[in-house]
Amino acid sequence: PVKTMPEILQETVEKIPDHIAIKFYTKEIRYKELWSFSSMFAASLQQTGIQKGDRVAIMLPNCPQYIISYYGILKAGAIVTQVNPMYLEKELLYILNDSAAKTIVVYEPLYPRIKAIADKTVLEKIVVVSFEPEKSTLQDEDELFEQFIGNGIGRAILPVEIDPLEDVAVLQYTGGTTGVSKGAMLTHRNISVNAQQSHIFFENEHPFGVDRCLTVIPLFHVFGMTSCMNLSILNGATIILLPKFDLQEVLQTIKEEQPTTFPGVPTMYIALVNHPNAQDYGIDSIKTCNSGSAPIPVQTLHEFEKRTGAKILEGFGLSEAAPVTHCNPPFGERKPGSVGIGVPGTDYKIVDLSTGLEEMPAGELGELIIRGPQIMKGYWNMPEETENTIRNGWLYTGDIAKVDEDGYLYIVDRKKDMIIASGYNVYPRDIEELLYEHPAVQEAVVIGIPDEYRGETIKALIVKKADQTVTEQDIIDWSRERIAAYKVPKYLEFRTELPKTIVGKILRRALREENASDQP
Ligand code: ATP
Repeated sequence: PVKTMPEILQETVEKIPDHIAIKFYTKEIRYKELWSFSSMFAASLQQTGIQKGDRVAIMLPNCPQYIISYYGILKAGAIVTQVNPMYLEKELLYILNDSAAKTIVVYEPLYPRIKAIADKTVLEKIVVVSFEPEKSTLQDEDELFEQFIGNGIGRAILPVEIDPLEDVAVLQYTGGTTGVSKGAMLTHRNISVNAQQSHIFFENEHPFGVDRCLTVIPLFHVFGMTSCMNLSILNGATIILLPKFDLQEVLQTIKEEQPTTFPGVPTMYIALVNHPNAQDYGIDSIKTCNSGSAPIPVQTLHEFEKRTGAKILEGFGLSEAAPVTHCNPPFGERKPGSVGIGVPGTDYKIVDLSTGLEEMPAGELGELIIRGPQIMKGYWNMPEETENTIRNGWLYTGDIAKVDEDGYLYIVDRKKDMIIASGYNVYPRDIEELLYEHPAVQEAVVIGIPDEYRGETIKALIVKKADQTVTEQDIIDWSRERIAAYKVPKYLEFRTELPKTIVGKILRRALREENASDQP
């Protein structure tokens, strides 16, 4: 039988009720408390009229109330709608109206932002998380988080029948890196199975009840949701929450809390590796750093391991797959540059880029398609997109990839990022990997820009390491000696930073748009 995440939480609570589930600065919440607070939340939600299948939005940075609300919503049979706290009016109106959320749990500094648009949505209730409740001024029926869960004290949750295979647990809006953000409908099975798949994959490495997971990636992102929160709850781990990535704070937390796992995104490991004395903070207490969401440069992977003694396991996933589908194995061979093999129960193959049908032989490029119990039910309100994306039970990822003889997957690029220059297919990642080998390069991104003669031509944007004096031309010349002429960036520009999504994906779309108009 397929379990739901609340059922999995219940099992953990029965085994280790007094174990610390959440650590947030000096605040500690035990597993039994997480259970009762989330039940109170669920009962209170039901009292306000929320029924099975209704959407309840969460717009919070990492904090204990996030996890309590998430499990409360699931216990009530409602659907969690994850909202990025950085969203502004236009994005908020889109996500709140698309999901038709009736209730939102919001962090106090963002309350005015929601209040300003609430009458253009179907929101009926705003629950506010404040770290200085005595100073809060709320309007209308809105309530502070403590008040809200207080309404649930002593009330039983009304029974709701959940079909884990059919009923949606989470609306996970995609990052919108390539276009409009779509609401992936993740069922109760999708999310619990994905935690289980990750658990089996790391089983011996992470025995029950001992892990401490450093949680800096946001929980509203699907990677944080599964790899930090749900997997920790299944593992009986302690979730050490930090609301944002502040390098010094992360290092200090590693030193004091000695986490055993640290799921992260490449930009975090890049920042750590460029810190002058990262090795003094005991990073080697961490058994596994799971890197995902964007490619980690091979150079960073090697340097990180050499300097810190901690091991990075690169994995792969996407919102539509709850998200984990691949990872480098903790015991078997790790292949730098590869995102590893499928997690248990995951089928995958590479098919012809244009037809999407014929399977490509080992080593050849094509589109990655995936099948497994973690694959979403479809996109919310988008039947056509769903039909295009899930065909005959296979999820078409839009990623260009290859699989080697041993079944290891290599993500080359997204279909939408491929550059066609003078008729050649150019994969930005190929050139970026090279640029990272240059000693002055801290971050690099390569995009295609319109070119009258070549159709598209190549431009690199680079953030230099501190105190480096090289010029743009130096790096172009250096590249010319190392890659085929058609791949050498024609233009190269130094930047102090690169535009990124909240999980540190470089926004190539934004760079392309800005470069489409102002290129020489
Ligand atoms: P949208 O789909 O709306 O453009 P998004 O890409 O940010 O937004 P996510 O579901 O968060 O949405 O990201 C999934 C994508 O991230 C994958 O399809 C893949 O392109 C990329 N990705 C994830 N992990 C890796 C990795 N280890 N290496 C390379 N790419 C990765």
